[in-house]
Amino acid sequence: MRHDWNREEILEIYNKPLMELLYEAATVHRKNHDPNTVQVSTLLSIKTGGCPEDCGYCPQAARYHTNIEGNDLMGVRQVKAQALRAKAAGSSRVCMGAAWRNVKDGEEFDQVLEMVRTINKLDMEVCCTLGMITENQAQRLAEAGLYAYNHNLDTSEDYYKDVISTRAFQDRLDTIGNVRKTNVTVCSGGIIGMGEKLEDRAGMLVALATLDPQPESVPINALVAVPGTPMEEIEPISIWEMVRMVATTRIVMPETQVRLSAGRTEMSREGQAMCFFAGANSIFAGDKLLTTPNPDVNEDMEMFKMLGLNPQRAFEKKTQPQTVEATESKHAPLGEKPKWSRPGHNIPRNEEAKSKSKTKA
Ligand code: SF4
Repeated sequence: MRHDWNREEILEIYNKPLMELLYEAATVHRKNHDPNTVQVSTLLSIKTGGCPEDCGYCPQAARYHTNIEGNDLMGVRQVKAQALRAKAAGSSRVCMGAAWRNVKDGEEFDQVLEMVRTINKLDMEVCCTLGMITENQAQRLAEAGLYAYNHNLDTSEDYYKDVISTRAFQDRLDTIGNVRKTNVTVCSGGIIGMGEKLEDRAGMLVALATLDPQPESVPINALVAVPGTPMEEIEPISIWEMVRMVATTRIVMPETQVRLSAGRTEMSREGQAMCFFAGANSIFAGDKLLTTPNPDVNEDMEMFKMLGLNPQRAFEKKTQPQTVEATESKHAPLGEKPKWSRPGHNIPRNEEAKSKSKTKA
């Protein structure tokens, strides 16, 4: 396993003649995974909208004028019902997303911990994406039975400054570092098609592949340009860029689960099949990805049947964590107020989207 990849080497792989790239990626894939098994995760937005951050791609940022319907934190019972539905539809993992800058100790976080306990007891893998977290918060999530924590790097460190001004790339790495101090696995990837250069795609893969250990799961998203966001006018990327990105990710992170995430509605079945051949072995299921559309589960299951793919069973890669009840917890909340950075530099397109009048549906 290499952890010393550099940008030039990764670009060289990305730009190989396509047939060579596919052959190499598929070979690495077969050496490390069953090529006919694909992990299926369901993404659940447990708290939607009203986020104080300014991520240029995100319709949940409060400052942009998008048409999403926000909601407060969901109840544990509602989450359990959705998790049971996801399990019945073939998902082995539930990923809960909350539109927060960072986690704050208190009632809401306690409620999320209860959701984690509840889903782990359903024998499903539980993942959370809640923003920046401290080591103590990561420990408490681990104790509750969390299987994975998602925290995307989004893009290269260079381009990050053109996408987000309310936090720094280093904050992302720090949160990933906090998760790594527990037995929770790391899920971290990014988005392509945000106007970045190929060097930035390679730069993001350098940042992920040089982590030791590498993330257990890497989602590759294609930008879904939502009206009202600063990136609303960016043209969609071609399927070939997605295939190249998946294949390159597979080659530099052989053991990782590479996830086809946002943007699948724009991809044909042939395009998705090519991504699976190139090493993608995980998808998000369900008709919504937080707030953007996603293929229906039945359509996905039909596609699996056609391609001879099988959904991965829960805990096939790592044993199920044990759930410690809240009353038995060894990690009391510390009530910390960490100083996550707030660079606050000016990103013209973000400022412009903020000042626009509300988009009509
Ligand atoms: S991506 Fe996450 S942190 Fe950024 S604005 Fe959206 S919800 Fe907030």
